[in-house]
Amino acid sequence: MSHECPFCQIIQGQLLAKIVFEDEKVLAFKDKNPQAPVHLLIIPKKHYFSLNEMPEEERELLGQMIFVARQLAEASGLKTSGYRLVINTGPDSGQQVFHLHLHLLGGRPFSWPPG
Ligand code: 5GP
Ligand code: ZN
Repeated sequence: MSHECPFCQIIQGQLLAKIVFEDEKVLAFKDKNPQAPVHLLIIPKKHYFSLNEMPEEERELLGQMIFVARQLAEASGLKTSGYRLVINTGPDSGQQVFHLHLHLLGGRPFSWPPG
């Protein structure tokens, strides 16, 4: 838990977010500045600065985050149309919030390669 971290504040209920999923280890909520009709963030409740800081022993947690994303994609009606999962990591990626998070984006076509 980091007091300056907005996502830790959301976990603690100190910062408001539209939460769409929660269990013991994972939280998912709507992105405050959505880049697509569906834009959700899936995070571990434990604070990790980025994917680089997550130890390999947490592979199950990382897998769980991806399955939660798949479940939310399906619940959002994206199973057939498709969706994109993104984990920005480090300066070149444009990572802005330093609490590991998985973006679920969908509801419109995305270009490839990304910008
Ligand atoms: P990054 O660039 O770090 O991968 O993405 C961070 C994302 O978090 C951005 O899409 C941004 O809109 C979102 N975000 C940043 N602060 C908050 C917040 O306080 N609440 C919510 N719901 N989303 C946030
Ligand atoms: Zn945090």
